[in-house]
Amino acid sequence: MNKIKIMENQKINYNEPIEIADKIWWVGHYLPDDKFQCHVYLIENGKNSVLIDPGSKLTFKHTMKKIESIIPFSNIKYFICHHQDPDITGSMPLIDSIVSRKDAVILSHWRAIALLKHYGLEMPFQCVENIGWKIDIGNKILQFIFTPYLHFPGAFCTYDPETQILFSSDIFGGFTEGFNLIAEDESYFESMRPFHEHYMPSREILFHAVSKFEKLDVKLIAPQHGSIIPEKLINFIYNRLKNLDCGLFLLTHTNSDITRLSNLNKVLRKFFESIAIQKDFHEIASSLLNYIKEVLPVKKMTFYAKNKENLIKFDNQSMFRGIVSETDNNFKDSFNLTKNEFIDKYKNTFLKISKNQTQNPDSAEKIIIPLFSISDFKTHAIAELTFEQEIEIELELKHILQEISIPLGVAVERELILKSMEIERQKFYEQAIRDPLTGLYTRVYLNEAVKRMFAIHDREKTENIFAIVFDIDFFKSVNDTFGHIAGDKVLKKVSQVILNETRESDIQVRLGGEEFAVFIASYDNNIPYSLTERIRLKVSELKFDPPMENKQITISAGIAQRTFDQALEDLIHNADLALYEAKHSGRNCICTNCRI
Ligand code: GH3
Ligand code: MG
Ligand code: MG
Repeated sequence: MNKIKIMENQKINYNEPIEIADKIWWVGHYLPDDKFQCHVYLIENGKNSVLIDPGSKLTFKHTMKKIESIIPFSNIKYFICHHQDPDITGSMPLIDSIVSRKDAVILSHWRAIALLKHYGLEMPFQCVENIGWKIDIGNKILQFIFTPYLHFPGAFCTYDPETQILFSSDIFGGFTEGFNLIAEDESYFESMRPFHEHYMPSREILFHAVSKFEKLDVKLIAPQHGSIIPEKLINFIYNRLKNLDCGLFLLTHTNSDITRLSNLNKVLRKFFESIAIQKDFHEIASSLLNYIKEVLPVKKMTFYAKNKENLIKFDNQSMFRGIVSETDNNFKDSFNLTKNEFIDKYKNTFLKISKNQTQNPDSAEKIIIPLFSISDFKTHAIAELTFEQEIEIELELKHILQEISIPLGVAVERELILKSMEIERQKFYEQAIRDPLTGLYTRVYLNEAVKRMFAIHDREKTENIFAIVFDIDFFKSVNDTFGHIAGDKVLKKVSQVILNETRESDIQVRLGGEEFAVFIASYDNNIPYSLTERIRLKVSELKFDPPMENKQITISAGIAQRTFDQALEDLIHNADLALYEAKHSGRNCICTNCRI
């Protein structure tokens, strides 16, 4: 038989007592502008009636009126005080003065009784732990559930197995703007969240209590604050509460604005969630930036991490993918410091950068957060947060950033290892494909390098492809006269001219010895010649150190245009033929087999 009588808020007259279940009454009073909304419940049970959390002096006369409209006040034998707060027990001296029956009793935990006795009441106390955490009130047995250290060391709740109502006291309470006796949907959890986050000391303790409730068959939760929770929402709320980060006041240093603390805490919670779910650093960092943006006007977030050779920069512009940074001057002093060394150096756990240092010392436009390695506990990375404008760095914010910095340090360190491996791989690869003396591609790699260029040419038939081969004139005599090392320097300088004059999309190769080639794609058939001419001229103008200061180096060049589907070797062969012609025309000149 379903004894629950109240399911929704419609047509509730708060000036009357409200029967929420068979003989269970809400006898509270609506106080305007009170976000706590304290509820009082009456279990109507003849001469053994029970009043749960009687309420404060502010509300008691209204509660009394409601009780009297149901039963004579003298029918109440038991007064349950789930804890000792004034909004629950402020009315007790008043009650004490009007209760005349000798068997009336206050039921509470000894920790609350130790405080309540200071009211100097006549009525006796009964300790719930001394009566086996339950009481037989005649028609039914009420059970008491110990929920220690939630809102009070001796906190407990009451469960009525007959109606399956849990009178939960502070737990499941919420801050509600208006007055809603019944929680309507899952959005009620957002009213409960700040209440629990700051008021309940820890997730573990709350989890422990909720796990106890889960063992009961609960059809309705009647808390002392907020809204009554109907059955359809109970499991949802249990699950959310079990995972809620509580003890938010531990974050409090100067600011105890609950909403702000709650928002800051949200950043922490979401960040830890994303660390658990996401493996890629760029995803972790991108989501962190989004979370922080919800509470702070952050313009930029950049990480700098150092490995043996490089400073790697991860920023939102590059989607936190990591690029080798050229400039490290700003941060080089912040690396390789232990936490204490960092604090000694900067007189703080953070480095605050402010345009106007004389202004508020706690405000900053930029902050540098050190990230410590888990292997040697030294700064191996830093996180730099740049704000839209100067902001005040509150202690709470510092605390959050410090909490974040530990897992963030681990994430950056892991990313740095991956990135360093990638850089090493790239280096080996470059070494295999690039000639170490000149930095040009090797002949071995040439086939790979031109593949794409030729494929586009064959498919789109728009741009033309040209091969230009160069050969240094009388190079043998340079070696013979000035030595091999001087010869190498000439090769380097000539290669540098080729690199400087060509574009990144061109392919520059050392074909072997003192022969080079450049492959270019161009719509304009004049470009290959003018490029070759520029290179020829620049080489002829190269200046060398003594004893080669008076030596002029020249090159000869041959240009060939690729026909569609022409093989690389044929193209080079044609360019070679043109080069041969140039050599025979007196050197230091260009010949071509194409129509230009
Ligand atoms: P030409 O004008 O006909 O091209 O005459 P050349 O002397 O430049 O041509 P040749 O092919 O006779 O000589 C090329 C020389 O280049 C021979 C070789 O010792 C030298 N050489 C090849 N590779 C290197 C190198 O890596 N370093 C140095 N220093 N010399 C090299
Ligand atoms: Mg040669
Ligand atoms: Mg030569």
